[in-house]
Amino acid sequence: MTAAPPDDDMVVGNMVASNRVVGSGFGAGGPVGTGVPFRRENPARPNEIVGEMAACTADEVSDIVEAAAAAQRDWARRPTPERVDLLRRAADAVGASAKRLAPVLTAELGKPIDDSAGEMGFAAAFAHHVATRVEALTAESVVDDDAGRVVVTHEPHGVVAAIVPWNAPLILSSLKVAPAVATGNTVVVKPSPLAPFAVTEALAAMAAELPPGVISVVHGGADVGEALVGHRDVAKVAFTGGEVVGRSVLRTAAERITPTVMELGGNDAAVILDDLTLDDDVMERMVFGAFLTSGQVCMAAKRIYVPEHRLGELVDRFRETADRVLVGGDPADRRVTIGPLVTRAHRDRVADLVAGAVDGGATAHALGTFVDSWDPEEGYFLRPTLVVGAAADSTIVTTEQFGPTVPVVGYDDLDRAVEWANASDLGLASSVWSDDEERAFDVGRRLRAGMTFVNCHNRAGMSLRVPFGGVKRSGFGREFADAGIAEYTATHALHAPASVRAGTRGRAGAPSAGALAGRAYPT
Ligand code: NAD
Repeated sequence: MTAAPPDDDMVVGNMVASNRVVGSGFGAGGPVGTGVPFRRENPARPNEIVGEMAACTADEVSDIVEAAAAAQRDWARRPTPERVDLLRRAADAVGASAKRLAPVLTAELGKPIDDSAGEMGFAAAFAHHVATRVEALTAESVVDDDAGRVVVTHEPHGVVAAIVPWNAPLILSSLKVAPAVATGNTVVVKPSPLAPFAVTEALAAMAAELPPGVISVVHGGADVGEALVGHRDVAKVAFTGGEVVGRSVLRTAAERITPTVMELGGNDAAVILDDLTLDDDVMERMVFGAFLTSGQVCMAAKRIYVPEHRLGELVDRFRETADRVLVGGDPADRRVTIGPLVTRAHRDRVADLVAGAVDGGATAHALGTFVDSWDPEEGYFLRPTLVVGAAADSTIVTTEQFGPTVPVVGYDDLDRAVEWANASDLGLASSVWSDDEERAFDVGRRLRAGMTFVNCHNRAGMSLRVPFGGVKRSGFGREFADAGIAEYTATHALHAPASVRAGTRGRAGAPSAGALAGRAYPT
């Protein structure tokens, strides 16, 4: 399916003469979006408009979901190998679009260009991974023995509503779309208005390889998200975003008891043990663990705990390494590793957090360099900082900064560091760093998080086979790995106990009606 132009000026998937992207969502019937269009500026050069996107009305959302529900009935009936084959083609299509779409993602989001290409590569790789796992995971199981017959099947939910944030739109969409589609659901994606273009193009490329209505995209803000989540035909909600919106999504979903996967924010602790050798490799992993995508990553290291007697050494090594590897500037320039923040308001919020820490007596060490000839004042840039001397209970330590700053806090006693790490209401990821892997795993077992990295943090520790998701207020449900595929099916169990099979009543060994009534628990 190729989305056709909604009118002469709006060409889905093309740069128009003005060099702006103009686009719309799409469904089974083609492009949609007669709501109020919105624009997105380039956060590296806010005077430059990247493009204009057509928003959907609530009625259009409803039509799209109903068409997705109709498409799902046929899609679910297809044998899994046929769906897998089509998913592989869709994966190849998104992979092939990487070169074309990476500059679009970089322009709308400020993400360094190689990371943008990496997002497309991830989307393709993850879809292929799902394709290799789904048949085994959804195979019907049968047990037929003296106790009776049990058949368990894995059924798709129906229409999945996938709501994604701006910070990694391709990765976070593909984590929902690939397993949903592979298991026989259809999916309607709502991207963030702050990064709407590349993800729409990539999903359109995938959708073109699948029957109409299997993948749809709707655009807009909270009203469109609510119309989608609350629709009577939506059978599962997969949400990634912040806690405030997450709570609102849960309220809407609660009206219809719609099951949800919630991937929310994190305030990840990195616990450094006293034996860690601070060599260049370790330090680069630590710096990028905190500063990838300018720190705008849910699973970034957001507070570092280090033994007090090694605090000075860690700060020196962190600063040296960061000054070497953090290069600010135009994110389209391949030398650049630190782009702007997503909006002016977000930049100001993170700057205020750092200023508040300094007011409270901490020192903010500026990190990294800027490429020559680039004026950071042009965009929503914020110089990365390492904050030293903030109290363990200060705001910069206890808040998800989601930006290019990280506090480092000294500890005297490892038990105290574990206690601080676990004191947060959030529990997405965490990390333990040690030359002794066994010791790191032992400490890691004591951390309350959905994931604990060892000797790395953030992207360096992610793997397609490792389940990811939060505990506490970081959410529930899992993405990645087999657990992330299982989210998109519900088991259907069929059971004929031997005791009720025809011909068993009255036979020696069969329980009497009285015995059955009195048997409180099955065995
Ligand atoms: P957000 O919560 O503001 O928005 C997320 C999405 O929800 C957007 O598409 C938005 O338009 C939509 N939305 C807004 N109001 C809605 C409503 N009432 N009903 C339905 N949808 C609605 O998040 P953001 O600012 O885009 O992203 C940043 C947050 O996401 C951070 O807190 C970050 O930690 C989190 N995050 C979590 C993960 C994870 O895997 N756990 C990954 C990335 C980002």
